[in-house]
Amino acid sequence: MNSSAHADRSGEDGKARQGGGQTGLLDLWPDALRATGAMRGQPPYRVTQVFEWVYRRGADGFAGMTNLPKGLRERLEQELAVYESSIADHVQSRDGTEKLLLRWPDEATSECVLIPEGNRRTACVSTQVGCPVRCVFCASGLGGLQRNLSAGQIVEQALRLSRLCGDERGLANVVFMGLGEPLANYEATVRAVRTLNADWSLNIGARRITISTVGLPKQMRRLADERLQVTLAVSLHAPSDELRRRLIPWAERITIDDLVSAGSYFFERTGREVTLEYVLLGGVNDGPIHARQLADVAKRLRSNVNLIRYNPVAGLPFSRPTSEGGRQFLSVLRKRGVNAHLRRSRGQDIDGACGQLRRREQSG
Ligand code: SAH
Repeated sequence: MNSSAHADRSGEDGKARQGGGQTGLLDLWPDALRATGAMRGQPPYRVTQVFEWVYRRGADGFAGMTNLPKGLRERLEQELAVYESSIADHVQSRDGTEKLLLRWPDEATSECVLIPEGNRRTACVSTQVGCPVRCVFCASGLGGLQRNLSAGQIVEQALRLSRLCGDERGLANVVFMGLGEPLANYEATVRAVRTLNADWSLNIGARRITISTVGLPKQMRRLADERLQVTLAVSLHAPSDELRRRLIPWAERITIDDLVSAGSYFFERTGREVTLEYVLLGGVNDGPIHARQLADVAKRLRSNVNLIRYNPVAGLPFSRPTSEGGRQFLSVLRKRGVNAHLRRSRGQDIDGACGQLRRREQSG
């Protein structure tokens, strides 16, 4: 690897590359690309040209960047990789949802999903390989955390999904709801948001980006202070500390009061309402009493609630409530004045829930 490129790569604060391999172009912001060895002596507009190819026209290598001199293309190719991953699997659901399993140079694999919503499309990206949180109902944490993804590797997922749209303007929203806990990989997550947001990149408005967290109060406050207009979704999943601790090991040290207080701070600082996510687990957290308690939490936080019926994971002892059960739970919330929605599950026939495809590959 070219040493000047390494020194100028501002993405990882000097940390070792995530997953080895060549320097990833997607980790470079314009100044850092301009400072690479390959770009030495080149006019500044070359940077714009490269980024236009990659972010607007979906180029996956330098060779086809026909408005760049051939020598420059070759030098860039030697020094940088546009994409670091290869596609290990690509599955399509009957409902139009598509899922990619990406393999990184260190053989780690992660998932990302494209979810159509009318003619709009949402990209769901992972922030880590595996997950350190180990929620008892979730497939992602079953093998623990393997490593963080870099900002460029997070952006790469969005780009690969936008290529599936056949149109780089095809992504309406990006949700950080794949494998991993985004706020446990804080720097890369925020940097990826800023990259997706940049006018030289995909130019996706921060309001169209959602970060979903298990709820880490310190990092939620820090994110509020970034003054980014992102949507923050907090995975509550239980309306009392006692039940939440049974479902989410990290809740041992974090109370719902802590989350309400950090969520309120986020709202005050950004003016953005926080969303509470709530996975309905049959017979566990889906009773009328839970709905009433959840309504209280949502009102304290002045938050919206997104309900989703559990997507069963092979080998885990949880069941999916009926759609009627889901609607009843929803109506309790609404009667109490909470702005709540019951989300449709997407891509069920392709192991839609986090971590399931990766898990199948590992065990198969
Ligand atoms: N670590 C982040 C992102 C995780 S994935 C977080 O906790 O928010 C996004 C959401 O999917 C989380 O709310 C997660 O709890 C939920 N989820 C995980 N497994 C699920 C399953 N099998 N069915 C439905 N939702 C699931």
